[in-house]
Amino acid sequence: MIKRKVVFLDRDGVIVNNSEHYYIYRIEDMKYNSGVFEKLKEFATKGFEFILISNQSGIAKGEYKISDTEKIHQQIKKDFKIRGLNLIDDYFCPHHPTKSKCLCRKPNSLMIEKAIAKWNVDSESSFMIGDSDSDVKAAEKAGLKAFKIEPNKGIYI
Ligand SMILES: [Mg+2]
Ligand SMILES: [Zn+2]
Repeated sequence: MIKRKVVFLDRDGVIVNNSEHYYIYRIEDMKYNSGVFEKLKEFATKGFEFILISNQSGIAKGEYKISDTEKIHQQIKKDFKIRGLNLIDDYFCPHHPTKSKCLCRKPNSLMIEKAIAKWNVDSESSFMIGDSDSDVKAAEKAGLKAFKIEPNKGIYI
């Protein structure tokens, strides 16, 4: 079976601008960082597909619901699709350590490991783009390279 080349993307601060709202759970609060889709198209041209890997602890804290995050992700999938970008899957951790322990919240690597196994990802050529140390740690634990960018400045790797 052919292995997939995947760019793993953190959501908030990387794809979605969270400079005005710490938690993004309403479609009307969702803005994309500038230049992001143009950059992702460059990766797509090189044969990459995309997977979202996001911590959404606002769910554990009762700020919003799983269904809110699912709606946001449906919108993101549509927005990728109309640009010809293949967002093959999206993972989010709804937990927070003050409420419960879990293995999925970054810097843990379970979400990424699941995705690698499910989608037959080629770890050698795939990588993660995040805006926090926990993104980098999670990716490296899962055996991927990782790039850390400044939040909400676009993808400039
Ligand atoms: Mg982030
Ligand atoms: Zn979790």
